[in-house]
Amino acid sequence: MDIYPVRDAISTAYLVVSDDTAMLVDAASESITPKVLAKLDELKVKLQLIVLTHYHYDHVGAADALRKATGAPVAIHQLDADNLRRGGRLAVTPKSLRGRFLAPFVTRGDRPSVTPDLEFGDSEDLQQYGGFGHTFLTPGHTAGSQSVILPNGTIMVGDALTEAIVRPHRALPPMFADDSETSIRSVVALAEASHGDVRVAHNGRVKESTLQDLASRARQGSLRY
Ligand SMILES: [Zn+2]
Ligand SMILES: [Zn+2]
Repeated sequence: MDIYPVRDAISTAYLVVSDDTAMLVDAASESITPKVLAKLDELKVKLQLIVLTHYHYDHVGAADALRKATGAPVAIHQLDADNLRRGGRLAVTPKSLRGRFLAPFVTRGDRPSVTPDLEFGDSEDLQQYGGFGHTFLTPGHTAGSQSVILPNGTIMVGDALTEAIVRPHRALPPMFADDSETSIRSVVALAEASHGDVRVAHNGRVKESTLQDLASRARQGSLRY
């Protein structure tokens, strides 16, 4: 199983490939469409499934174009499905200084409206949809934020964690959260699920041991925004 990060200016989508099959986790902005199609072509694999971790526009931008080009269905958790369909202006609640600084940029543009083909429950076996591993609900950043765990133990968490800008890339709680308490419970759930790489949707990966540290602070009640 190979993982190819496909980046745009702010966000990363992950193309997961095994044998002749591919699954995309998140869809960044529309600008990644040719890059994903070129990679599928180069590897001679077929895209079977597009899983969105949540509805924010920097995670869903290429979903429609890639669905049209490949026929792969677009999946999101059912609690984020209405917001995905609605599109329009994004509202976020910053939870850190960095979040407050970035909020005006994040909320500037209009989101595309995307109609999902699949609305997931809290845990889905992705094999039945042609993908790999399974999803689990990690809410807080948004109500329907979901993460993906691959058979090799890698977890893809979308924005359920933020990575520190400087090395080592420590795991931090999400910089925006609709519900802070819930997002901290999700940090613990992610640490319990994780036994490999941790991929976040912005700068790439965080150090797994730092996710465990973050979760112990959350368990002790000392993790505060
Ligand atoms: Zn987000
Ligand atoms: Zn994001």
